[in-house]
Amino acid sequence: MADLPAHASPKLPPQSHPPTSSGPDALPDDASQGSGITTGQQTPALPNSLLSPAFTPPATPGGTLNLTSNPTKALHESQAASIRHQGEHTKAPKLLSQLPQVECIVRARIPTTNGAEMFLHLYHNDMDNKEHLAIVFGNKIRSQSLDRVYPGETEMDRMIRGAYVGKLHPGRVSSWFDDEKNAESQSEGQTKVEPPLVRIHSECYTGETAWSARCDCGEQLDEAARLMSFPVEDLSSDAPPEAQSLRSHSAGGVIIYLRQEGRGIGLGEKLKAYNLQDLGSDTVEANLLLRHPADARSYGLATAMLMDLGCGADVNPDGVRLLTNNPDKVRAIEGPNREVLVKERVPMIPLAWRTGGQRGIKSSEIEGYLKTKISKMGHMIQ
Ligand SMILES: [Zn+2]
Repeated sequence: MADLPAHASPKLPPQSHPPTSSGPDALPDDASQGSGITTGQQTPALPNSLLSPAFTPPATPGGTLNLTSNPTKALHESQAASIRHQGEHTKAPKLLSQLPQVECIVRARIPTTNGAEMFLHLYHNDMDNKEHLAIVFGNKIRSQSLDRVYPGETEMDRMIRGAYVGKLHPGRVSSWFDDEKNAESQSEGQTKVEPPLVRIHSECYTGETAWSARCDCGEQLDEAARLMSFPVEDLSSDAPPEAQSLRSHSAGGVIIYLRQEGRGIGLGEKLKAYNLQDLGSDTVEANLLLRHPADARSYGLATAMLMDLGCGADVNPDGVRLLTNNPDKVRAIEGPNREVLVKERVPMIPLAWRTGGQRGIKSSEIEGYLKTKISKMGHMIQ
């Protein structure tokens, strides 16, 4: 058995090592150089924490008088200023030169709490191992990969994975024909098909599930679903003005739900960013301080999924109407070779703004978040 060294955890700093320098001025200089110092060599490397510089020796007694009463704020200001320039370049959408391969593995009908129904489509792809989703309203939008016939599969196999037309009901034996729905689908076929409404939504655990008022993701998801599931007959005089323009929206809609939590940085990093926000950063600065781009999302998966759902330019020359406040997203969704055509951008106005604070998120924090989206990320909320 190997002998353990006499001293304890290597994480402990050396204790019998007083500074060898002769004067009190040496300490700040050492700290600012940050390498080659006696203590620096023997102390194990700290994790690359961003906050550490603010709490290291400069604030020792007798040090600089006007350092600041708020070192964290000073750190934010200096670091944010140094990377602001870099931040401006993160706005451009990431366009993959080649779209990923996607396949709809299963689909199921979901009756929703507001009375509308949607079909939840679960996708696999060759880019990551996540289960990205398409939430489809209406029965005109179908997945080509789902409808494909698998070798050797039975009618029951097809119905179980959701590759059926119409609705399932007890005793149904064919995936291809739904006698109860035939009349309806024929009459629907006579109406002119309008471009479907599309929303690209990135997963946000805090905003959608944990009631967070730090962002408006939950409200935007709800609102997108509401607009897509608006029955035509409900668009009467009491419908909000933005819904009136959707009167002809009989083609249904798709919410592409991408599993890229926290603008792509993951939940853990997003929670760190929230702590930085509580320390005074805005949402963009916080991400940059954590050395993430302001927006790490990519949309090639969304483009590929839209194409699979028959919304691509190849089979849908009329294009789609994209529900977004982010002009960059329009180009991102269209894909490297304009695989999807965005015919129109439909803005999403926060409920609280639209209703004078009567409805929507009640929080002072959401205002700062929305302002940052507008001033730093080019969003147009109008
Ligand atoms: Zn969110």
